[in-house]
Amino acid sequence: MAELRELQELTGDEDGAQRVAWTETWARARDWLDEKLSPLPLERETDEAANQWFTLRGRSERVLLIGGHMDSVPNGGWLDGCLNVLAGVEVLRRLAEEGEPPVTVRLVSWADEEGARFGRSLFGSSAAAGSMTDQAELRQLRDAGGVSLPEAVGAFGVDLDRVTEARRQLEGAAAYLELHIEQGPVLESLDLPLGAVLGTFGVERHRITWRGQAAHAGSTPMDKRRDALAGAARLALELREIAREAGEGAVCTCGGVVCRPGIVTSVVETAEQLLDQRHLDAEVLAAMLAAAERASERFAEEEQLELSWERIWSIEPILFDPALIELADEAIREVAGVSHRLPSGPLHDAAEVARAGVPTVMLFVQSLRGLSHTRLEDTRPEHLELAVQALDRLASKTIEHLAGAA
Ligand SMILES: [Zn+2]
Repeated sequence: MAELRELQELTGDEDGAQRVAWTETWARARDWLDEKLSPLPLERETDEAANQWFTLRGRSERVLLIGGHMDSVPNGGWLDGCLNVLAGVEVLRRLAEEGEPPVTVRLVSWADEEGARFGRSLFGSSAAAGSMTDQAELRQLRDAGGVSLPEAVGAFGVDLDRVTEARRQLEGAAAYLELHIEQGPVLESLDLPLGAVLGTFGVERHRITWRGQAAHAGSTPMDKRRDALAGAARLALELREIAREAGEGAVCTCGGVVCRPGIVTSVVETAEQLLDQRHLDAEVLAAMLAAAERASERFAEEEQLELSWERIWSIEPILFDPALIELADEAIREVAGVSHRLPSGPLHDAAEVARAGVPTVMLFVQSLRGLSHTRLEDTRPEHLELAVQALDRLASKTIEHLAGAA
């Protein structure tokens, strides 16, 4: 905890953490991490995607990975990402003290998890997982100051043509563990410090365009209007019912509606609505999407509107490893008495590693008021302590499990 505070001092200000990837402050955090680990007998390496690797060689070639990220959003919290890394540092310290472990253990600090500067999340982990295929689009990205992504990453020795060579880092990886703050209110509402994460939600994102007729706000009677906003508004409310029916943590969000002409004296002619739907079960997610489509068709008919749907982005649910989820549950029960299993709404580096076929699990520790990506982000000190203990236990259990299976 003292080190988390030290990092906060070194890389934050009164507005919060400022470790945005590909900046000087981020570089300072990376050097600091390297220095913290310098007393340990580790091999260190920075790969083609700027991920930092610290390897404690064991008796077997099989590898246990522990991961996190040092980057933050601007004005971020003091725990998001770096708690994971520093908890991993604690595990490495304990293992190194005990001598050569039965399997090789590697800590990875992923580059640019947040995507805060260029809008592309999970940069380093998707490169290492081999799922990064958008290099052509990445070349076009610029930050708010006009700096291009290739230029910014180039300053850190990263060449977009070579980033996926980081794939070799996952060779031999037999398990991946990541501790993270929950960033939501579920554990707090259950009054539990820790939970084992089942996987990350699948996501369906769509843009829905409603078309009616612009008409004078004074002269057009209510029953003669074709109001595009009415369709969007009815769907926005219907989403609550769709999520409630799906259950199991289902979430649906209408994140915005842009109206045209967008003036106070006209009925809305077009309304462009953004929809985000998430669930851990692919079939349920598909049913939620179908329900939203059916409801929108009904509203379009009743409001006499034209309707079109366009997919913006989607990702399948990613399920974590059942055996590792068991071990995570055990570790949590041992340090905290009670465990709880929950899905993750946000994506994490762990999802990329799991997608690459490495058995994966995450631990969540309670977030106070469910807040994250703000300087108000916080977790009780006693819960942070339990979280590091749980990760340490889980690492031991996983090592035993891997050594036993070899
Ligand atoms: Zn994070």
